[in-house]
Amino acid sequence: MSSQKHYSFFESVEKSFDKASQFTKWEKGLLEQIKACNSVYSMRFPVKMDDGSIEVIEAYRVQHSQHKSPCKGGIRFSEEVNQDEVMALASLMTYKCAIVNVPFGGAKGGIKINPRKHSVYELEKITRRYTSELVKKNFIGPGIDVPAPDYGTGEREMAWIVDTYQSLKPGEIDAAGCVTGKPITQGGVRGRKEATGLGVFYGIREVLHMPDVMEKLGMTIGVEGKTVVVQGLGNVGYHSAKFFREHGAKVVSIAEYEGAIYNENGLNEEEVFQHRKATGSILNFPGATNLAKSGDALELACDILIPAALENVINETNADRVKAKLIGEAANGPLSPEADEVFIKKGIVVVPDMYLNAGGVTVSYFEWLKNLSHVRYGRMEKRFTENMNSHILEQIEGLTGKQVSEAQRKVIMHGAEEVDLVHSGLEETMITATREIMEIWRNNPSIPDMRTAAYVCAINKVGVSYTELGIFP
Ligand code: GLU
Repeated sequence: MSSQKHYSFFESVEKSFDKASQFTKWEKGLLEQIKACNSVYSMRFPVKMDDGSIEVIEAYRVQHSQHKSPCKGGIRFSEEVNQDEVMALASLMTYKCAIVNVPFGGAKGGIKINPRKHSVYELEKITRRYTSELVKKNFIGPGIDVPAPDYGTGEREMAWIVDTYQSLKPGEIDAAGCVTGKPITQGGVRGRKEATGLGVFYGIREVLHMPDVMEKLGMTIGVEGKTVVVQGLGNVGYHSAKFFREHGAKVVSIAEYEGAIYNENGLNEEEVFQHRKATGSILNFPGATNLAKSGDALELACDILIPAALENVINETNADRVKAKLIGEAANGPLSPEADEVFIKKGIVVVPDMYLNAGGVTVSYFEWLKNLSHVRYGRMEKRFTENMNSHILEQIEGLTGKQVSEAQRKVIMHGAEEVDLVHSGLEETMITATREIMEIWRNNPSIPDMRTAAYVCAINKVGVSYTELGIFP
């Protein structure tokens, strides 16, 4: 295996794309266009640090496809950022949006810094300068390109971005839609923070309810009692663990870069998070065993393995030793193409990143719509629904002479709030996408894995979109 070519991240994405394109009917030129990164903006800018020194910051924004506008995708802060990585991540965004019917092209941004090594003030200066570079080149705007959080960024950075954008574009009525993942007070939407983790849960839960897949894997139907290993306790890993635990699964191991812990009776992600906050490490968590190395968690026997950190963590060096029955890619690109081949042979089902972690961008879409409509979800209909439900209930109680319990009354009366609508829209999106991809896989037995089926789904949708744009007479 070691004699094989090592693929860069972008090459891995291209390889998966090529593998899938043979199952589509598009002509070569169109496939080339779908695959190519349309615009790559590589920048360097100086920032004065707290100690007075000047640092040259390396950063990128890649717009993979403008087959729909605006382009969409997060911005990551990481020392590993490079052009190839951002191009790969931007491509995945195009396919991800297509699969979940979010009408955006794909994009991604990256700043090559370690956020832990900078003060908050330095991070603010870097973020604001990056934003003004994007404005200068017309690489950001509610109708052009809309960033969002990714690895190493969150609400705070998104607030800096929207503020910088608004100050450079005074009077732009839809300016709040220039970035998503904002704090609620700055135009964010309720439910965005947990969206990716919740989407991961909804997507895997749907697979766990497919009798044919479960039979093939020798697993029982449903979430209840399943053992889960989660790599990464960031926003995505934390919320994936939370929803699995709340629905009766046992999160037996959690890994972070400093190490991994194991407890066969299950771990509570919030307690582990607090322990890490207090001690600086997830290790030595009360009641749990420390594993020798962080990577050992990936090799534990379990039902479901959820890599929720960075790319290429399962590759030709460790894929052989993975014992999970099902892998849910919460991170972007956690498996190498070599790992895919190993899992096809071993019969392990990989639920692929580019739709499984689409919960984030799906709810970003809802946030963007909220920003353009300038009204909170539920504001117009919540009270109306409650009044109507109350009326219906009164009639039923009057006609039957019976009364419902207080608990039931609360459920029936409840008019949808913003978070209810966002969760419901996300659940619908993830269930539909899972079924659509599985249908493609079931209907074509020569498709080797779910990733290829997902790519076929994405390529077909982007292909239709390009063709309908009419640029290929
Ligand atoms: N960074 C997230 C992703 O990789 C979210 C992107 C977005 O909301 O635009 O999907």
